[in-house]
Amino acid sequence: MAILITGGCGYIGSHTCIELLDAGHDIVVLDNYYNSKPEALRRVKELSGKEFPFYECDIRDAEGLRKIFAAHSIEAVIHFAGLKAVGESVQKPLEYFDNNVGGTITLLEVMREAGCKRMVFSSSATVYGMNNPSPLKETMPTGGVTNPYGRTKFMIEGILEDLCVSDPEWTAVLLRYFNPIGAHASGRIGEDPNGIPNNLMPYISQVAIGKLQKLSVFGNDYDTHDGTGVRDYIHVVDLAKGHVKAVEYAMKHPGAEAINLGTGTGYSVLDLVNAFQNVNGVPVPYVIAPRRAGDIATCYADPSKAKELLNWTAELDVNDMCRDTWRWQKQNPNGF
Ligand code: NAD
Ligand code: UDP
Repeated sequence: MAILITGGCGYIGSHTCIELLDAGHDIVVLDNYYNSKPEALRRVKELSGKEFPFYECDIRDAEGLRKIFAAHSIEAVIHFAGLKAVGESVQKPLEYFDNNVGGTITLLEVMREAGCKRMVFSSSATVYGMNNPSPLKETMPTGGVTNPYGRTKFMIEGILEDLCVSDPEWTAVLLRYFNPIGAHASGRIGEDPNGIPNNLMPYISQVAIGKLQKLSVFGNDYDTHDGTGVRDYIHVVDLAKGHVKAVEYAMKHPGAEAINLGTGTGYSVLDLVNAFQNVNGVPVPYVIAPRRAGDIATCYADPSKAKELLNWTAELDVNDMCRDTWRWQKQNPNGF
């Protein structure tokens, strides 16, 4: 029996492959390399010392998926594959709905045909929208999303919940990630964004290494301790370990369950810049810029449900996140 990892060549997927292999699980990986490179999985094999089957396949390709399910006994799917750039989703909504929502439906149909009815899904804190106060709890209303990317996550959560109602054999663990950053402690795998990064941490590390001149801090007039936006940054290795716990939970508990994966602690943009400079001893020049459209002041998790159901809590702190990001960036200045 194996776990199928869609999008397993990407940032969070590659780290999760390592943690699954270390925990003794058999894995099968698929990716269409839209936002990743084969080298990432080569390094996963190197770090884990284990081999596993890989398929270059798109989740919208039902025939391709059928072949994978026919060739392996898949007991659960961890579904990372999707497009994730918020700004791009505003420009290309149809591509986002087709890839994320359409692709997930195709995948679920093939899973049903194959009798595999367990999915761990990569959702996001974005489903809480603009109006809930932090700490965000799974019982709070979702929706009120501000962009097509967020809407795809909200829609897929709803599809999985409806599926679990329709058939009690289905299991869906909806993991709502907060802000994943950091890299594997080896410095061999990490986040490898295409072009100019949209997210804060890869931007900081590219400024630190001199690829970008300075960071623009989007707004310093928010109602936070220093005026800059506060987020719940979580180390990608902690997040990956959360997936191991979630898929093991999914084996035993049918039904749909939304679970936050965050640390429960918020850091501002300037907190993160300062931590990065202090831990790594490198300057990160920045300027204060206008607010970015669609941003909220504060977003952090109540992580108690993950502790209760999965016996999972984040173990690494913001200094670990900064140190590991910088090791990856320095060792791989041009990514994979
Ligand atoms: P990523 O882009 O590094 O990984 C996604 C992988 O999926 C890539 O390797 C890409 O090539 C692949 N992929 C995309 N479309 C595909 C398709 N149609 N068929 C097959 N493979 C496809 O992104 P990530 O940061 O590792 O994120 C993984 C998941 O977690 C995504 O669903 C993302 O929306 C979600 N998520 C990410 C964050 C974050 O900040 N990184 C936060 C919340 C949720
Ligand atoms: N941010 C910033 N400059 C950047 C990128 C991000 O000041 O170049 C801020 C952003 O306004 C938010 C925080 O950093 O307050 C985290 O942004 P990111 O895009 O990484 O994640 P989000 O929480 O928006 O998904």
